[in-house]
Amino acid sequence: MKVLLVEDSVASLQVTQKFVESAGHSVITANDGEQGIQKFLEHKPDLVLLDVNMPNMDGYQCAQHIRESCQEGNSWIPIIFLSADVTEDAIVKGIDSGGDDYLPKPITQRVLNAKLRAMARIADMRKELEEASAHLKHLSSIDGLTQLYNRRHFDEALKLEWSRSSRTQEPLSLILCDIDHFKAFNDNYGHVAGDNALMKTSKTIIDTLKRPGDLPARYGGEEFAIILPGTPAVGAMLVAEQLRTAMDVLAIPHIFSDAANIVTMSIGVSTYYPNHTKISHVELLDSADRGLYRAKKKGRNRIELQSLTSNIL
Ligand code: GH3
Ligand code: MG
Ligand code: MG
Ligand code: MG
Repeated sequence: MKVLLVEDSVASLQVTQKFVESAGHSVITANDGEQGIQKFLEHKPDLVLLDVNMPNMDGYQCAQHIRESCQEGNSWIPIIFLSADVTEDAIVKGIDSGGDDYLPKPITQRVLNAKLRAMARIADMRKELEEASAHLKHLSSIDGLTQLYNRRHFDEALKLEWSRSSRTQEPLSLILCDIDHFKAFNDNYGHVAGDNALMKTSKTIIDTLKRPGDLPARYGGEEFAIILPGTPAVGAMLVAEQLRTAMDVLAIPHIFSDAANIVTMSIGVSTYYPNHTKISHVELLDSADRGLYRAKKKGRNRIELQSLTSNIL
């Protein structure tokens, strides 16, 4: 563990530091409360050993500041108070100000080691919990079949990118794709083959996108949406064309399609220029959808760029 030791007495600091280091932990030292807070924020230790009696800012105040910073995003870190004052009042005050344990001075190496082990156990469990919750959050934004982002995540991301674009005045493009005659594919080749085609198509979409900020999502059953931040219409059309070409290369046979003898997609593209028009993210989505509808009407397996001001279908 990385241990922050806050102690104003040089003699105590040296002794405690030696104990902690001989138990296999690394130590960062601070000589008063203010320096303690500063080093806590700078080094993000796994544990804080905090002297109570210090000039200027005492251990209680220092603990309160550390706990406030934990609420502002820094995760919970165990704090152990060190003090010769082991009256009930002192211990209760220590716990109330944010401490997790209270160690009487003079400290013995055995007891300190035992407390360090106990805190390390809690810190490990907390880390596992944080990892599990991050993993769950990730899972809740991913579509199980295709591993693309799901509709929920897409909706949030589009709102976010729309706000960013409005702020930075950079264009934001949106591509909507829909597999052509996919019902006929399922009806004739079966649902398992249908799922496979969706997986392969998704991988093709991921492989086609080059920028880390591009966000591909499964919008619905056989519909996909791609958010392209900072991309003008000409760039989005290029991506759409590359995607159509990639589908040609993928060449999943579909002899029951009117559009081609392989699986193809119809694609609608629309771009939001914040310095030209003021439209919402919903209108951008609606616009790309109109482009997609036009691509279907014009015979499928094609791309249509939909201008935001035009309502022509
Ligand atoms: P269009 O060219 O007009 O888009 O015709 P379409 O048949 O693709 O469109 P329609 O909306 O009529 O049918 C979509 C079909 O996509 C329905 C269903 O058979 C298939 N589908 C949707 N989601 C899934 C899925 O998760 N797995 C499989 N295998 N098929 C799906
Ligand atoms: Mg002191
Ligand atoms: Mg559809
Ligand atoms: Mg379809």
